[in-house]
Amino acid sequence: MDYRLPTTVVPSRYDIRLEPDLEAATFAGHETIAITVSEPVSEILLNAAELVIRSVRVQTADGQTVEGSAGLDEAAERARLAFPTPIPPGEHRLVLAFTGVLNDRLHGFYRSTYKDAAGASHTIAATQFEATDARRGFPCWDEPMCKAVFGVTLVIPESLVAVSNTRVTGESPAGPGKKAVAFADTIRMSTYLVAFVVGELEATEAVMVGPTPLRVWCVPGKLHLARFALDIGAFALDYFERYYGLPYPGDKLDMLAIPDFAAGAMENLGAITYRETALLVDEAAASHAERERVADVVAHEIAHMWFGDLVTMLWWNGIWLNEAFATFMELLAVDAWKPEWKRWTTFGVSRAAAMGVDGLHHTRPIEFEVRAPRDCEAMFDLLTYEKGASVLRMLEQHLSGDVFRDGVRLYLERHRFGNAETTDLWKALGDASRLPIPEVMDGWIFRPGYPLVIVEPDGTGIKLSQRRFTYLPTESPTSERWKIPVRVRASVKRGFVDKPVLLGDEDLAVALPAAPEWVVVNAGGHGFYRVQYAAPLLRKMTSSLKKLAPIERFNLVSDAFALAQAGLTPSPDYLDLTARFGEETDRNVWTALIGSWGYVNRVIADPARPDLEALVRQRVAAAVERLGWEAQPGEDELERQLRGDLLRTLGTLGNDPATQERARALYARYREDESAVDPDVLPALIAIVAAAGGESEYDEFLQRFKAARSPQEEQRYLYALAAFRQPELIRRTLEQTTNGEVRSQDAPFVMRALLVSVYSRRLAWEYLTTSWETMARQYPGSAYRRMYEGVTALVSPEWEREVGEFFASRKIVLGGKTLEQYLEQLRIAVRFQEREGAALAAYLAKPPRPPRAR
Ligand SMILES: [Zn+2]
Repeated sequence: MDYRLPTTVVPSRYDIRLEPDLEAATFAGHETIAITVSEPVSEILLNAAELVIRSVRVQTADGQTVEGSAGLDEAAERARLAFPTPIPPGEHRLVLAFTGVLNDRLHGFYRSTYKDAAGASHTIAATQFEATDARRGFPCWDEPMCKAVFGVTLVIPESLVAVSNTRVTGESPAGPGKKAVAFADTIRMSTYLVAFVVGELEATEAVMVGPTPLRVWCVPGKLHLARFALDIGAFALDYFERYYGLPYPGDKLDMLAIPDFAAGAMENLGAITYRETALLVDEAAASHAERERVADVVAHEIAHMWFGDLVTMLWWNGIWLNEAFATFMELLAVDAWKPEWKRWTTFGVSRAAAMGVDGLHHTRPIEFEVRAPRDCEAMFDLLTYEKGASVLRMLEQHLSGDVFRDGVRLYLERHRFGNAETTDLWKALGDASRLPIPEVMDGWIFRPGYPLVIVEPDGTGIKLSQRRFTYLPTESPTSERWKIPVRVRASVKRGFVDKPVLLGDEDLAVALPAAPEWVVVNAGGHGFYRVQYAAPLLRKMTSSLKKLAPIERFNLVSDAFALAQAGLTPSPDYLDLTARFGEETDRNVWTALIGSWGYVNRVIADPARPDLEALVRQRVAAAVERLGWEAQPGEDELERQLRGDLLRTLGTLGNDPATQERARALYARYREDESAVDPDVLPALIAIVAAAGGESEYDEFLQRFKAARSPQEEQRYLYALAAFRQPELIRRTLEQTTNGEVRSQDAPFVMRALLVSVYSRRLAWEYLTTSWETMARQYPGSAYRRMYEGVTALVSPEWEREVGEFFASRKIVLGGKTLEQYLEQLRIAVRFQEREGAALAAYLAKPPRPPRAR
């Protein structure tokens, strides 16, 4: 079938009047679309889904009215408007009346319900149109290149408020108890960026950023949680205006917290919608990680106002650039806002996560052909956001920040209010840098996977070579090569060498003035590749850890574990390496270490678990000792967050009884006096108390989840419910994923957490195999897909077979290569278990060695 609408009729303006009925969960609509007809047509094709079109007519330029009729093709999500006489070429007006439903699936025009403090239920109506659900709100040309101006009027009960993309221009009575709220015209933009939100909503005072008022909206009673988002929002808006060199394209900027929201947030121009955890936060009570999440998401969405909204991809294959760029800009802005957060170092964790997927045979290129719009749903993944942002960062570092920014400005200037493609950005960056950008970038964008750079001693220097990195062996080694901007840093007799080189098809000798004391490849850590050092070079590096930057130590651990997973180094060697990080102070390096032990925990047999717990306790002991349980004056946020992470690890993965006891005691104090516990330690306490807890703790946490005072508190207690280890408590949590106790936006992620835990995975898998149809009905599609990632933790040959049969017999479609990726990740883990299980058990059975003196 042809996925694109014909271009013989194109819209330039929509005047839309919608009247939602929140109680009945329906809406009535009327729209007048200014269309340009380029050749005579007797039918007009446009998108509509779950709508009933009640009347159709065209008012032609010369004053004729032609009545038509509508036929709906639900499968194709299209309306075919037929006319008895052909509509001549020209500028006409298409007038449609229609009705629709406010659905509960968190897409299109939908209903979200919440309970107020007194327990009374309230409803709001909100939209989520990306990628292709504007057609559920009004009949339209629902393709990103069909940009138009939107003039919106919402008819609502007098007691409610309505928010859309632009300022309110007027309110007028519209029948008993109703008012019509009219909004200013939008800029020329794509349908997927249109937004309506209707309900009992409150807004903060506007913060003025130049001429733009910035506000946060939420359901009543939560305005005190909006300050932090306003702060980063105001900073980001100003930062981007300067960076892009163009004013903000809207006439106001509202950010709205929606109680039910499938994604993290949505960049509707002027009316950005968020799930509550991504916007509202109690700044004083939240952990660093929780605040960082809000800052990231807010900066990301505001970055889209230019990159995405002002200039939009031509078709859905361009989603990657939209999202990769917003992610890159988010990091740039947050890093400028809070340099002490070292956001680019923390980004190493995200880059490594993308490498986890991109090291699969079932990976995909960042950009690929998208024919059906549905295919682009699978594009919202780690490869689009994190790999995409990584390669943009690599390019930015290669070109220099200023040249890169100049190229971006050129691109936005050239294409504003219009659409563009990846090649247009390369062209602009090429014009700004006078360098052949596609030559370097095409391999990273249009080909799947990434290279492993192999480093060997070569005289007094080193030799670099490359091949593709995959976790599972390849039948025949490929000849694929990338153009890799590599930075080499070495310590030699008379100082340091810091050298950028471009590694291509041929092996590359890098001369050094003398034999190095140590050498780091991927210095600065921006490269999207892994590094394998020859043994003598690795030894030199690991005895000079303090000379490396945190991101370089992070990459060292992350690469070493990936090599062990791929069978390129023995896993006991890897566990030995982790003993060298006793004095480590960087949180990201610890994240890599803790993540690898968690993986090993899912792979080893149950009898080996106490030995792994002992190893974990030994590895983190010195750092916990150093940091203690209480925040110290003068500490930065990252240290505080690290304390929380390490205590959590000691009490859960390390299963340390003394830590569990102390966590219980401290939590008891917190009940009496909330100021007794540091906000970065509290989430760890909750997790530890759950892991070691019984029914009374469970009941308490369930109660606290239901009565949470902030979205973050709600999340902590919700996920704590998935951390209890007693089977009857696990069963209770499982039931809540389908009985409506947990919101459908969260339940799939709770299910995933249950599948991933070694204590609950068996019960969770059983529950999933009997309840998946209910889940498919209840959960929003994007989250439903991600739940299944949990099956990658079902590490045994029997489970692997069951998982394979489950998907094959149920014909579950997850879109793109998602399912194949989960199955391959499971294969890698099972293979690791078969290959390394005995060696790991033997290694772990030895008493852990104290870290070597240095
Ligand atoms: Zn985005």
